[in-house]
Amino acid sequence: MYDQQNIFAKILRGEIPCDKIYEDQYALAFNDINPQAPVHTLIIPKGEYISMDDFTEGAPDELLIGFFRAVGETARQLGLEKDGYRLIANIGTNAHQDVPHLHFHILSGKKLGPMLSR
Ligand code: AMP
Repeated sequence: MYDQQNIFAKILRGEIPCDKIYEDQYALAFNDINPQAPVHTLIIPKGEYISMDDFTEGAPDELLIGFFRAVGETARQLGLEKDGYRLIANIGTNAHQDVPHLHFHILSGKKLGPMLSR
């Protein structure tokens, strides 16, 4: 069940502010409030999706395509094409997803080290 009171739902509705990087009809990208790297931007689809599995199962093709185009556009707007970046989507309990609205972290601005801490 999607929680309409989650913090990203409130950001999408404009009820709380965000440091916006990019927005179109499919997605909103904004800087993480607690950055873990010099560049730490979040991107969320405009729709009530918690996880990658419910997004890909339930979203219309136009939104799926539009969202992933917006991820690339955000990376370009951040100027990350040359030096690269990492995308992370934490889904569910094992991945410690804190906010139950699907989001990708876009991390860059330094060498990010190993993919997982051990
Ligand atoms: P996750 O653990 O993958 O669910 O990540 C949730 C992320 O949302 C964390 O990196 C938080 O710092 C970030 N976050 C929480 N509240 C806000 C907010 N109001 N604006 C921007 N980022 C937020």
